[in-house]
Amino acid sequence: MIEMHDIWKTYADGTHALRGVSVRIDRNEFVYLVGPSGAGKSTFMKLIYREEIPTKGQISVNGFNIGKLKPRKIPYVRRNIGVIFQDFRLLPKLTVYENVAFAMEVIEAPRRIIKKRTMEVLELVGLKHKHASVPSQLSGGEQQRVSIARAIVNNPSVIVADEPTGNLDPETSLGIMNLLEEINFRGSTIVMATHNRDIVNSMRKRVIAIEDGNIVRDEARGEYGYEV
Ligand code: ADP
Ligand code: ADP
Repeated sequence: MIEMHDIWKTYADGTHALRGVSVRIDRNEFVYLVGPSGAGKSTFMKLIYREEIPTKGQISVNGFNIGKLKPRKIPYVRRNIGVIFQDFRLLPKLTVYENVAFAMEVIEAPRRIIKKRTMEVLELVGLKHKHASVPSQLSGGEQQRVSIARAIVNNPSVIVADEPTGNLDPETSLGIMNLLEEINFRGSTIVMATHNRDIVNSMRKRVIAIEDGNIVRDEARGEYGYEV
């Protein structure tokens, strides 16, 4: 569960990215974050995966007050959160297998378990047969599938996705959304920022709209709601 209470985020240059955001996202929800560029969506997500800390207010993820986390507890909290980016962020010199296994090596999982689990998630995303390829040999959709495999390999309770279909064509995007739905069905909470109107309108999930650092709309079965 994710809870924010009166969260403010002001960057070092004085930009107010979030201005008093309060929200609760329950276990196993699927939430779309929408709103114009610069509205504060990425900041909202960075606070969840503790890339940034709030200037003011409280945020808890799975019961941890992550604004005030002791440094030694950060890795423990982070492994429970998978992150997916628009630009995939794979390591170009590592194979598909190594890119995914790396996330388990970081948390010092036993070798035998790393091998079994890595192949298992590669199968789930439909890329077992590409385990020995490097990212440059894959299409954009395939690279995003690898990054999804990497995000879920440690069984996180929360997945944060920042415009995961932003670089993909509509058909490929649909495949990625089906995969994210499957992952949500298997028990992960998903928070996804998107500008993809068709996806939001066809899936009818919870929609939170952020504008100028405030939540301006929060609907259980929402629509995209913007013209472009
Ligand atoms: P969105 O994801 O909705 O486009 P962001 O959360 O990236 O919005 O940005 C919100 C506001 O904060 C914008 O005005 C942006 O320019 C600003 N911002 C984001 N990151 C930083 C940073 N590291 N330093 C200063 N300003 C930032
Ligand atoms: P897209 O048209 O979706 O961008 P590509 O034309 O890049 O896809 O690739 C089509 C298929 O061929 C994909 O399955 C991709 O993994 C494979 N492929 C592309 N380039 C290579 C390569 N250099 N080595 C191996 N497989 C490749």
